[in-house]
Amino acid sequence: MNTAPFSQRVIEWYRQFGRTTLPWQQHKTPYKVWISEIMLQQTQVATVIPYFERFMQRFSSVTELANADIDEVLHHWTGLGYYARARNLHKAATIIRDKYHGKFPENFDDVVALPGIGRSTAGAILSLACGQHHAILDGNVKRVLTRHNAVTGWPGLPKVEQQLWQLADTLSPAQHIDQYNQAMMDIGATLCTRSKPACERCPVAFDCQAQRQGRQKDFPEKKPKKAIPAKDGFLLVVRQQQQVLLQQRPPAGIWGGLWCFPEFSSEAAIKAAAAMINADATLHPLPAFRHTFSHFHFDIQPLLLDVSSDENEFNETMLTPQAGDAVMEPKATLWYNLAQPSRVGLAAATERILASLQTASIKELE
Ligand code: SF4
Repeated sequence: MNTAPFSQRVIEWYRQFGRTTLPWQQHKTPYKVWISEIMLQQTQVATVIPYFERFMQRFSSVTELANADIDEVLHHWTGLGYYARARNLHKAATIIRDKYHGKFPENFDDVVALPGIGRSTAGAILSLACGQHHAILDGNVKRVLTRHNAVTGWPGLPKVEQQLWQLADTLSPAQHIDQYNQAMMDIGATLCTRSKPACERCPVAFDCQAQRQGRQKDFPEKKPKKAIPAKDGFLLVVRQQQQVLLQQRPPAGIWGGLWCFPEFSSEAAIKAAAAMINADATLHPLPAFRHTFSHFHFDIQPLLLDVSSDENEFNETMLTPQAGDAVMEPKATLWYNLAQPSRVGLAAATERILASLQTASIKELE
């Protein structure tokens, strides 16, 4: 039984079992750690690795990221979800370029003031890349600490979060903070997992309260459930041979700045818009699906409208709120070539519909 202080056990474990070969752990810089931390916020390590590598190949420095078009940044984020993260990365990169001459700041207050960087992410960047003494409290660390100390209450509540920060600060060692913080994240991700914690291999099992009480599943407490509403949406997929018409959504609202099919709030509205394009238009339903946002379910019915290449009357402005019953005022429109896809950021619904277009045979549609 290892009865050494908590942080010592954690660091010893890290030296034996911790992850040291991840791409952002090689030749560590604050920039690399920043990008990896943001990508990892809602996404598993295995999924993040190829995205991180492609991102670094294209945007190898803060300045390259800042100078890039936001559309290209969103394109490199397509599939990772939570696009506000990519928009904040780009915004923060322009601040670093303009205010700090392209050098990632190493002062905690400067880092935490950047868009999309909270206390834990700032602590992770500065401790992992610069060895500065800061505690961290991401989702994985919260799980380890709530279980180890049997902390009750949902961690999203300010008073519970405050309690966890106090614990995180108290347990942090004076030395080797980078190894300790990395180890805590690794323990949360690989041992103290949500559904099947591997307590028999955990370095802090000996005094873990949840483990002693056999109550691992009770911690952390879940967010109190709130029913979220459902909303219907109809997306018009205008196809002209190998191209489909996409609109760039306004910056505010769902899928802000991403490319999507024109949206309508009712079947009648989408039919009216299709009739404006072609009075004899026939709409073919594509598979319907539900996309869940944090605050509502979006039940989406895509409808396909084939237009011929010599369609003279077709005018993209027909698909705007002024002309028809479209829901959004697009920032721009684009004929997206299915054979040679443009490098733009696609909304999750767009990707799904593009995939279904590729698999659906014309026969099935007729
Ligand atoms: S002993 Fe089990 S529950 Fe406790 S921190 Fe380790 S893995 Fe998590």
